[in-house]
Amino acid sequence: MPLPPDLSKPIFAMMPELADRIIRGECTYCANPLTPFTDELSKKEYSVSGMCQSCQDRIYADCAEEEDNAPW
Ligand SMILES: [Zn+2]
Repeated sequence: MPLPPDLSKPIFAMMPELADRIIRGECTYCANPLTPFTDELSKKEYSVSGMCQSCQDRIYADCAEEEDNAPW
């Protein structure tokens, strides 16, 4: 498993429920149990944001879609 986010960050002092999710091995975003990560980049992202693979996939898919729909 990748390294979890640094729980000493100020965000976790402000939002202790996020720290609890990390301690329980859950995604900070959807609160589901973590699933295996598909690549090193996803593991790195987890170490920063605490998001599971499916949340990362959804967020990055949304970004890609917006670029495709750009009018220029
Ligand atoms: Zn998630």
